[in-house]
Amino acid sequence: MKFRARPWTLLAYCVPSLVPLAVSLRLNVATLIEIVLIAMATAFVLLIQRRIDRRGFEQDKRSDEVLRAAALLGDYERDGRGWFWETDRHGILRYITPQVAQRIGLGSDEVLGKQFTSLIAQIGKRDDEREERSLGFHLSSRTAFSDISIKVAADEERWWSVSGHPVIDEFGNFQGYRGSGTDLTDMRETQNAFQQLARYDTLTGLANRLEINRLLEQSLKGHMGKIEPCTLFLLDLDRFKQVNDTLGHPAGDALLEQVAERLQRVIDEHGTVGRIGGDEFQIVLPKLTGIADLEKLAARIIDAVSLPYIVEGSQVRIGASIGIAVHERGETKPSALVRNADLALYCAKDAGRGTFRFYEQAMHEQASERRTLEEDLRDALGRGELSLVYQPVVDVATEKIAGFEVLTRWDHPTRGRISPDIFIPIAEEANLIARIGEWTIRSACAQIAAWPEGLRVAVNVSPTQFAAGDITAVVLNAIAQTGIAPAQLELEVTESVFLDGGNDNIDIFNRLKSTGVRLALDDFGTGYSALGYLKKVPFDKIKIDQSFVRGAAQKGSMNGAIIASIVSLAEALGMDTTAEGAETHDELALIRQLGCSHVQGYIYGKPMDAAAATTLLGERGGHASAEGFQANRPLRRRIFRRIGVHNDGFCYEGLVRNISSTGAMIDGLWDVPAGTRFRLELDNRLLVGATARWSQENQMGVEFDEPIALDALGDASKFKVQTGWRDGRNGDAGGMAGASADSGARRGSA
Ligand code: C2E
Ligand code: CA
Ligand code: CA
Repeated sequence: MKFRARPWTLLAYCVPSLVPLAVSLRLNVATLIEIVLIAMATAFVLLIQRRIDRRGFEQDKRSDEVLRAAALLGDYERDGRGWFWETDRHGILRYITPQVAQRIGLGSDEVLGKQFTSLIAQIGKRDDEREERSLGFHLSSRTAFSDISIKVAADEERWWSVSGHPVIDEFGNFQGYRGSGTDLTDMRETQNAFQQLARYDTLTGLANRLEINRLLEQSLKGHMGKIEPCTLFLLDLDRFKQVNDTLGHPAGDALLEQVAERLQRVIDEHGTVGRIGGDEFQIVLPKLTGIADLEKLAARIIDAVSLPYIVEGSQVRIGASIGIAVHERGETKPSALVRNADLALYCAKDAGRGTFRFYEQAMHEQASERRTLEEDLRDALGRGELSLVYQPVVDVATEKIAGFEVLTRWDHPTRGRISPDIFIPIAEEANLIARIGEWTIRSACAQIAAWPEGLRVAVNVSPTQFAAGDITAVVLNAIAQTGIAPAQLELEVTESVFLDGGNDNIDIFNRLKSTGVRLALDDFGTGYSALGYLKKVPFDKIKIDQSFVRGAAQKGSMNGAIIASIVSLAEALGMDTTAEGAETHDELALIRQLGCSHVQGYIYGKPMDAAAATTLLGERGGHASAEGFQANRPLRRRIFRRIGVHNDGFCYEGLVRNISSTGAMIDGLWDVPAGTRFRLELDNRLLVGATARWSQENQMGVEFDEPIALDALGDASKFKVQTGWRDGRNGDAGGMAGASADSGARRGSA
């Protein structure tokens, strides 16, 4: 128990002890009472004094506290870190920190007496409307609230966070609100800036990968669980790298900004354009899935992007390829749609760029087939599945074999021989081309070393091989190891090498040239024919593409004129010319007449293995002999189609084996006399008159009365177009499946 030293208590304890004291001092009762009364009076006075002192002290303390609090709040208000407000029971402002009123352009007297809610902007973003409503709700339901953000009704954009609680008097009556607030404007601006950074591409201001993915996800989710259709465009710029490399990165950036503007102008309200890195863009088109509309839009985008640009004073042209994935039904993930658009984009680029493709299921199968082949190709070199074949290149004037072009072959363990047109692009993409290319160069050099001197071997070098490794070192090494003269090796490159590598590659050419090897420009005329490069790179030879040679001798063909101009260009630059793909005597005669220095084609021999080439070299003292048909036959398609063959009121069933614009080979009718007339029901839209020209057992060749358009025969893509000739399926002297074959001048065909 605590002892409390009050004067009363002291007295109460003291009085009983005074009695024995008075007795021992022999004091009388009156004196004793007097003493006690005096003591009591003194204690009372002391007590009152003490009370007064304490109350004064507490009052002082309290007023100090009040002052201190007021000062602190004043500081707080003045610093602008926070402010206070108070309303009466009708929501009328009775107090607001004066600085806050000033900050929104009003004096305290203009604000006080107004409804608190009149300071809140009515129009806000959708998210914030909800918050305003909740503020209104609190005020009318007289409940406390905290940290509600509101947009202020002020000229400049301003945001507050407010808290408040109802004030209730001692009788439980609502008296109004009292609360505090803070200014969120700066924080929101910083937040917005962060959001801008996190969601938008800093260069173009377009949505970035993250944002576009979010939008895609939102579009695919649809509204209230209802899935909505949506389309994704994946766009890749063609030849952008060239601009970047030649004009520099700032120019590349400026170009990307212009591209972004054009894209946004075309897409407008239809959807959102995003840049997902480098020169790749994605466009999300919610609700838009009509094929015709999408086709139109894609074509407009390509047209817009392909118009010339002015970048740093130079005129620049680029193109665009687009892959399109449409989502109409069911659930799907953004990643699935992106993958589909990517496959479609791949096909668009494969189709020669500057075009668009819609995703189709078959693209997946093609892609997975490609992946399997890629895996197989990785092991092909190690397993000895690659080999080389040699096609003679003949001097036109002397018919002497000047050398061989070496072409690579892949004998796949289960698929048989695969064309380089198929596996070289795979090797390029899978980064295998450097290894394969190096092996080809070494093997070709070793082979030429084994042949008589003075012969040349030409090796194809792909543009990615230039980029992938040090080609000059590989070439020098191969030459040194085999001991051939550098001029015995000729490297063939296509024009695309300039597109992919720009100026870097020109340096490599000059370095290669200084080693003494020869350089040839392959497939001339099929690419971009940037003639400027012919001046910059010291080519020794131009190879005129087969497409100019084939059919050049036919009446009305312009190809002869084109070959003539290429030859005069090459002569002016001191270069040789090789006409590629000559098949007939007519073509050979024309090539000779037009002045090509060399010729290469089936007329002098198909690609053959090294042993056959060695034999050929030994046969006529190194001379080649032209063997072939006089003229080319019309293009022939192999087809397998049952048709109605009408004759003399009867309809027979025939099986068309192959067809050209002028005739067909048909199975099914036995021993038909030459000259018999038929009407052929090629399909239900096409009935043509025809005459049998020959027959053998149940097979006959017919000639149509009028040439027909092969494309009119339904789905033309189902027919494999065959080019070349001689023994049916073979592109090489040895035979190759899936490669070039036959334009139909075989015995027994129509
Ligand atoms: P290319 O360099 O234009 O090779 C010529 C192609 O035309 C060869 O096809 C050849 O067999 C074929 N050809 C030659 N004369 C005639 C003819 O009279 N008629 C017809 N119809 N065709 C003829 P191949 O061997 O299938 O090669 C195709 C392409 O594959 C080559 O075209 C070349 O670009 C590429 N290639 C082949 N081997 C290699 C290689 O080792 N490395 C690289 N990078 N590419 C290669
Ligand atoms: Ca070539
Ligand atoms: Ca060629």
